[in-house]
Amino acid sequence: MEAQGLHANRLANRIKLKEEHIITRMANIAEGLTDVIRLGRGDPDLDTPAHIVKAGQDALGRGETHYGHPLGLPALRKAIAENIKAYGGADYSPDEIVVTPGGQHAMFVIALSLLNPGDEIIVPCPGYNPYSQAAELSDAKVVQVRMSMETNFTLTAEMVKAHITPKSRVLVLINPNNPTGTVTPPDEVAKIAQLAIEHDLIVISDEIYARLTYGNQRIQPVAALPGMRERTITLSGFSKAYAMTGWRIGYFAGPRELIVAMAEVNHAFAISTASVSQHAALAALTGSQDCVEEMRQTYDERRKAMCEGLDAIGIPYAEPQGAFYVYANVAATGLPASEFCQKLLAEGRVLVYPGTIYGDYTDDFVRMSLTQPVARIREAMSRIQTVVNTIRAE
Ligand code: PLP
Repeated sequence: MEAQGLHANRLANRIKLKEEHIITRMANIAEGLTDVIRLGRGDPDLDTPAHIVKAGQDALGRGETHYGHPLGLPALRKAIAENIKAYGGADYSPDEIVVTPGGQHAMFVIALSLLNPGDEIIVPCPGYNPYSQAAELSDAKVVQVRMSMETNFTLTAEMVKAHITPKSRVLVLINPNNPTGTVTPPDEVAKIAQLAIEHDLIVISDEIYARLTYGNQRIQPVAALPGMRERTITLSGFSKAYAMTGWRIGYFAGPRELIVAMAEVNHAFAISTASVSQHAALAALTGSQDCVEEMRQTYDERRKAMCEGLDAIGIPYAEPQGAFYVYANVAATGLPASEFCQKLLAEGRVLVYPGTIYGDYTDDFVRMSLTQPVARIREAMSRIQTVVNTIRAE
């Protein structure tokens, strides 16, 4: 609802969205319906693995209910540094890592720390939109690199280059990307890194889905490339790979000089991250990693089921190579995707998100999360078929 009367002019100019977001509207509609298949939020239906939950419970039992170290539990930062290294990333010392209440929170800390008014930040489009919101709150200019279905929404150095200007300061890479599930191939990541060096850009490398890839896809950590450690902020978290969305814990890592200042910004916003979540995250990193592989395989099965279902209906989609989303083109239904989503929710009781919230300018795409078991995904596909048939007959 838009602010009215007494409050109409009270919101600051930097607050662009003055009315209820389509996601909130759809969430409210879904609350009033029964048997909704929720393929909206990027929130795993899978439980946080038991040993991680137990570590959280134990921490509570020990009275770990206080503020912690401003940068994060030292043992956790050490484990994060080791984990980054173990997966081919850069060599960070624990004091180059800041633990935050979620990766999303980190985006705002990083943007506010790096961007001056008028600076340009290059973001993938479609891409995870809070980066743009964080940049707008910093009064920076968001420059979108538009990718297309013809090339499976793959980001290339050539595309990035075409958007660099003398005002470019920061480049956001999300690999695998949300909402498209596309992986930027290692050779393109290396070429993009070279551009960053040539044009003196800082890269925010969002690697939160890096452990969730399919087939023979591989993620190249940006900071591990020659010359990149000093100009990369690596952002990640526990929400996706360990099914820990509700624990609200993530982190960012970067060169000490930048991290010192960013840690202060983070401290001003958050003081510290919940101690119980930090102990749980420590167990996530130091315990067996089999749970991550099991979840990855589960998403892979769901991915195949959803792609089969969409093939049967005749809805084209980008090949999902990572993360847990399928990005599908519903233009053939004849409805804009944002309308299709609302009709699908009301008539089919399937909740999916319109691509427009990820910067898509064509309103042709929907994002479907692989956050339901295979049987529910199949049921969702059958409901989508019914709604598509109804639209075609109207
Ligand atoms: N980065 C990407 C690409 C995401 O999709 C998300 C959440 O969906 C996040 C970061 C933030 O996750 P969290 O704040 O739960 O760590």
